[in-house]
Amino acid sequence: MGMTDRKDELAANLAKVERRIAAACAAAGRRREEVTLIVVTKTYPAEDVRVLAELGVRHVAENRDQEAAPKAAACSDLPLTWHFVGQLQTNKVRSVIGYADHVHSVDRSRLVAALSKEAVRAGREVGCLIQVAFDAGESGRGERGGVSPEGIEELAAQVAEAPGLRLDGLMTVAPLTGAYAGRPRAAFDRLMDLSTDLRRAHPAATMVSAGMSADLEQAVAAGATHVRVGTAVLGVRPRLG
Ligand SMILES: *Cc1c(COP(=O)(O)O)cnc(C)c1O
Repeated sequence: MGMTDRKDELAANLAKVERRIAAACAAAGRRREEVTLIVVTKTYPAEDVRVLAELGVRHVAENRDQEAAPKAAACSDLPLTWHFVGQLQTNKVRSVIGYADHVHSVDRSRLVAALSKEAVRAGREVGCLIQVAFDAGESGRGERGGVSPEGIEELAAQVAEAPGLRLDGLMTVAPLTGAYAGRPRAAFDRLMDLSTDLRRAHPAATMVSAGMSADLEQAVAAGATHVRVGTAVLGVRPRLG
């Protein structure tokens, strides 16, 4: 496919997603400006990120540092905000701090300490969202990362006090197992309740990151401020990501 064809395809997909978000906002009585679209570009090349920027996208997300670091470097001239949304190992934190403006997957104390140390070293302030797992088992951790709702308060306090970090809010991925499996709206409603609790202690932590290609309407209806959309904009991913 030529670059022009790809640009047309991405423009058409973006327009469709934009219509879905606008319709969901209208149905929920929310203003369109209350919801920020983050395009998840994992597995797609830097050229696509460049085209998305030309089409007006300002927020992109990645979930693997190995892939994200070179892509962000190749796109460093573009007016983009980078979100890191994947499970994060502490040995990748220094690299991630080099390009990420927001980390949505903060889910344990050691990670907060590592993010703080590297943000300070880099002279940056990085926004952190606590990833909430509604499928967390005995360990208190979810299958795909995240902390159980009971663990939010302590982690949030740690982020709020950590030099170089800013507590931005909460993130979740609709769970595939457990009581909320197949009920994204219920999971997102619960996330909103947890966000209300969080904002009592941390009024500036207003971000609520929820909803993907399949369930963005449910997330907007529940009150999400940020939706993370990959497939519906870029197409079905060529490999697992
Ligand atoms: C891949 C991914 C998305 C986007 O998922 P799609 O179904 O492709 O829209 C959103 N959030 C996270 C954390 C992801 O890893």
